[in-house]
Amino acid sequence: MNSAALTGIGMTSQRTRSRMVERLRALGISDSRVLHAMGLVPRHIFIEPALANRAYDDTALPLGFGQTISQPFVVARMIEILIAGRELGKTLEIGAGCGYQAAILGVLSKQVFAVERIAPLLTRARQNLKQIGLSHIRLKHADGNLGLAEAAPFDTIILAAAAASAPQKLLAQLAPGGRLVMPLGTAEQVISLVERTDGGFVETRFDAVRFVPLLPGVE
Ligand code: SAH
Repeated sequence: MNSAALTGIGMTSQRTRSRMVERLRALGISDSRVLHAMGLVPRHIFIEPALANRAYDDTALPLGFGQTISQPFVVARMIEILIAGRELGKTLEIGAGCGYQAAILGVLSKQVFAVERIAPLLTRARQNLKQIGLSHIRLKHADGNLGLAEAAPFDTIILAAAAASAPQKLLAQLAPGGRLVMPLGTAEQVISLVERTDGGFVETRFDAVRFVPLLPGVE
């Protein structure tokens, strides 16, 4: 847990965040570290000022560039599956957007890497994470299909964009015992967990979700 690093957060949204955490608990999120991280990170700073009054609603919101900030429940659910009651360890996020999920990961782990293919979004993520004092998160403008070879292997990898199958390069960058969580599918998607075991990759499927597609290249 790395919550001591969080700074610059006003208390004004604390009560609203506590209500959001209670809602997440009621929806079935039970990992106390995940709930704690969701309660610490101020979602409103990641959102356009015009939409800030909806920052703690359990809904996805537009980010610009045709992208969305993920729904709090889905962020919590995917990270709960990813952490699996253990530690995140060295973690990689594909599709940082404006940095909200990266911030949650940053509370839970000292080693967080995140890539984003749209340069202006990455710039916003950088500013947002700096504003709340999460300076240990390493961000890169890159195509997440390729993973992040220079920092591999990873104990955990999480994708915030959907694909029909897990990108091979990402599976190859999982450490032994490592776990990857992603929205799997195109029109219909489910949360998929892939674990790298001694006997090979083992997949488990969870709830239905709706994510933007994992696209090739950078822009
Ligand atoms: N993690 C964000 C969600 C952003 S939406 C949050 O916390 O709200 C998903 C993001 O994935 C978009 O910003 C999109 O540009 C990005 N994305 C899609 N394909 C990608 C790729 N191949 N590499 C890196 N980022 C990608």
